[in-house]
Amino acid sequence: MADLPPIQFVPTTKGGVSLVCASVKFRFNMRRSNGGRYWKCTHPYCKATAITDKENRLVKVGDHNHSPKLPSVTAEDIVPGIEQRAVELTHIPIPNIYQEKKTNAIY
Ligand SMILES: [Zn+2]
Repeated sequence: MADLPPIQFVPTTKGGVSLVCASVKFRFNMRRSNGGRYWKCTHPYCKATAITDKENRLVKVGDHNHSPKLPSVTAEDIVPGIEQRAVELTHIPIPNIYQEKKTNAIY
């Protein structure tokens, strides 16, 4: 059995918690009857799931249909291009530019 990657739990803006495993974020899916939890990859169209036990240890993680690095877009990846775009495209609201950059960074 392959070594499982380290995981971490990060709070969500909605007061829940997300699981981050190998740079990929999972959202809570459902509780297991034994106290563990099922998690679902947050990447669009990816069906990968992860399972943690009741001690929050990773039990299993599925295969992704995308590169594990891609969804982990940080502000540092996006922000440098935004200021330039904002200067060039003053008629486009900043949030739209941010979204555009974020989308480009992911896909
Ligand atoms: Zn995935």
